[in-house]
Amino acid sequence: MSDPELQQIVCCMGLPVAGNPTQQMMERAFDAAALPWRYLTLEVPPDRLRDAVAGMRAMGFRGGNFTIPHKVEVIQHLDGLSEAAELMGAVNCVYFEGERLLGENTDGKGFVQSLREVMDPRGKHVVVLGAGGAARAITVELGLSGVARITLVNRSRERGEPLAQLLNDRVGVATEFVPWDGDFQVPADADLLVNATSIGLSDADARVPVDVSSLRDGLVVADVIFNPPRTRLIRDAEANGAITLDGLGMLVNQGVIGFKIWTGVDPDPQAMRAALEEYLGL
Ligand code: NDP
Repeated sequence: MSDPELQQIVCCMGLPVAGNPTQQMMERAFDAAALPWRYLTLEVPPDRLRDAVAGMRAMGFRGGNFTIPHKVEVIQHLDGLSEAAELMGAVNCVYFEGERLLGENTDGKGFVQSLREVMDPRGKHVVVLGAGGAARAITVELGLSGVARITLVNRSRERGEPLAQLLNDRVGVATEFVPWDGDFQVPADADLLVNATSIGLSDADARVPVDVSSLRDGLVVADVIFNPPRTRLIRDAEANGAITLDGLGMLVNQGVIGFKIWTGVDPDPQAMRAALEEYLGL
């Protein structure tokens, strides 16, 4: 790490990035670690992405996050990718190693780190609802973490089948694709259910089509939705005795991983979660 007295900058590029909760979380973590760093949110239109990445280099930024719509497109401007980012075909975190700008995907790693607080994923049967960007990141990372098998449930075949194929062929984890039709019954031998769809975003009463009676005692139920974090799925699962993980844990942990990559310092996850909860008015 360079002289901590010098202000260092990391950034988040997306469209739009106004009101990004990650900024509040990261700046709180810099304060807690007594690092005079700044986390900037920068709105970058797709046709200016190349220039924006060149600007990061020119201005000596230490790294950054990329959000929608840049997670895939940014790859062509990077000098290398982690194994997970290469398998996912998406990057949400970049950092410099000397002159080389490298891409990582911390979404799935953040999920797995949060999961480890309640369960070791090795050898487990996991059911994942959804096949978009979040599901791709989570399933690839779960595969790399040694889960025994994945049941991938998605409404559209167009997204579900290619992800199942990637998991079977490239990640090497036995994956069955199940088209989502009516209320999904969580299999009795499943250890973990993950809602990786966008159902529940900004709507605490939105219902994920799952048979609530299959959310049994001992099952771990995780939701990627962090706003609001107490989704209907999480509340139903808790009422049935399941162990629950909300989407804030995943968001905090992906931030913890990015922070360590950029600064070399372990941040305070409690301070980061508190900053997010304040931002969300919880
Ligand atoms: P995508 O748009 O890539 O994927 C959305 C997924 O949700 C698809 O599988 C889609 O199915 C499914 N879906 C949406 N609506 C329905 C519905 N009514 N019924 C059934 N399936 C539905 O989004 P992302 O994967 O990028 O993001 C998903 C969520 O994850 C977002 O809400 C995001 O905020 C959250 N997220 C949370 C993070 C965290 O740190 N906690 C990190 C990253 C994302 P189909 O293919 O059929 O359209």
